[in-house]
Amino acid sequence: MLCLNNIAKKYKDKIALEHVSLELDNGIYGLLGPNGAGKSTLMNIITGNIKPSDGQVLWDGHDIKILGSKYRSIIGYAPQQQGLYDTFTGKRFLSYMATLKGIPKKDVSREIDRVLEYVNMTEAADRAIGTYSGGMKQRILIAQAVLGNPKLIVLDEPTVGLDPKERVRIRERISELAGDKVILVSTHVVSDIEPIAGEVILIKSGSIIDKDTVGNLCSKYGNVNGLEELYMTIFGEAKPDA
Ligand code: ADP
Ligand code: MG
Repeated sequence: MLCLNNIAKKYKDKIALEHVSLELDNGIYGLLGPNGAGKSTLMNIITGNIKPSDGQVLWDGHDIKILGSKYRSIIGYAPQQQGLYDTFTGKRFLSYMATLKGIPKKDVSREIDRVLEYVNMTEAADRAIGTYSGGMKQRILIAQAVLGNPKLIVLDEPTVGLDPKERVRIRERISELAGDKVILVSTHVVSDIEPIAGEVILIKSGSIIDKDTVGNLCSKYGNVNGLEELYMTIFGEAKPDA
């Protein structure tokens, strides 16, 4: 279980997060909020890539600072920017990531085949990443995030820039991951997570507004038909189309 204890993050004088406390059990969580709300900052803190200015992140009750590499070995993370190596083939990129993750040598090849299959990229595995479409790049990013079957999967805007068909495909892949894992998916596009998230975490200007099931959120905020309308009620604007 992942537990955030009163997390704050300041960038110089800019407060990006404050008083963020959350408990995440196994399941799929949508982290929903407009651009600049603090989603990526929160995900980078959860994955240990940046340090909070205050507060703690606990995994099964242990501070991740103390868990160190043990914690990193249970995380799968797909960052928002596609920092992919254009000259690498998909397979070589996955092999490189598998090494970084410390996946045992004897398992690497089978594991790469498994994740390629999972994102339906087996055919394109030997092509250079530079030749991939946006959707294919996202799928390879998701493939590396699930290498080694991590217990905690963090996907930062995995559907950004994708066409509607690819969106659905990515959504379905994510929903199949559910089970004995904590899965956190950020987006500013309601339809990406509404059908698959057990709970939605609403984030605005660095603060968590609420965390609940879609149904409960809709009834709590009164008379709204679905998450889309709720989003507009809370964030006061139509979501930008990604
Ligand atoms: P989101 O992912 O929801 O769009 P971010 O976490 O990227 O939000 O950003 C939250 C806030 O923190 C924004 O106001 C952003 O401008 C600011 N911010 C993010 N990263 C930095 C940084 N490295 N230095 C200064 N400000 C930052
Ligand atoms: Mg972001």
